[in-house]
Amino acid sequence: KQAPIEVEQLEKAIQKMQQRVQQAFEKEKETKKVLEQFVSDASHELKTPLTSIRGFTEVLLRSNFENVQQVEDSVTQIHLQTERMSALIERLLQLSRLDRQEPLQLEMISFNELVEDLMPVLEVLGEKREMNYVLQSAQSQQMDVMKMQQVVMNLVQNAIRYSDDGSKITIKAYGTKLEVIDEGRGIEQEKLPYIFRRFYRVDTDRARSTGGEGLGLAIAKEIVEQHDGTIQVTSTVNVGSCFTITLPKE
Ligand code: ADP
Repeated sequence: KQAPIEVEQLEKAIQKMQQRVQQAFEKEKETKKVLEQFVSDASHELKTPLTSIRGFTEVLLRSNFENVQQVEDSVTQIHLQTERMSALIERLLQLSRLDRQEPLQLEMISFNELVEDLMPVLEVLGEKREMNYVLQSAQSQQMDVMKMQQVVMNLVQNAIRYSDDGSKITIKAYGTKLEVIDEGRGIEQEKLPYIFRRFYRVDTDRARSTGGEGLGLAIAKEIVEQHDGTIQVTSTVNVGSCFTITLPKE
């Protein structure tokens, strides 16, 4: 009399197992797709400056180096593109180190102290902006100082990159939160969900001319999430953006 129930249980268990295998398979497929996209994007991004370097080198070789102005322009471009490539490779390596989940070097520090230590650099970066600091975070928490400083730098660099000279940038620390607020061009609502993706840029042409490659926010997100924190954004076009990092309360 017991037998039918056992068969039923067995069938259920098998069904569950099949579901799990299917889910794992789907996840694996998704991971593979993301990885393939990443390699393809990275190769594309590296190819762009390389193509440009090749072009200018060919110009030089064909010119017999007679036209001084042309030589100067080409070498300047080659130098610029080489710098771009090396910055890109540096960021790719950084992402790959983050992907390997190397352990964080944790120290107790408050966002106040973290920002205060960064101020000399921020002042130089933001010399054409009105830099404003509201530091009210007395609470110390576990942070990898170098990595978290990198996050703040990436956010401030963006705030500068996507706003006009003379506009205000506010860095606000309170509780376990840190905000970077700008009065820049803002981001359309429908694009907000994508800006933390690797290589995503809202305005490819304009972002390219300002030197971005779409990895700054992806790196920031990765670092914040390794701290079990979150990074969020609110933005209004032509008014400005606010990026908020929230770390868990100790
Ligand atoms: P990038 O190197 O292009 O700045 P990020 O990953 O840092 O790459 O940012 C992705 C995109 O999000 C940018 O290309 C830009 O379009 C948008 N973005 C980021 N920060 C801001 C900001 N403060 N104001 C307006 N747009 C921003």
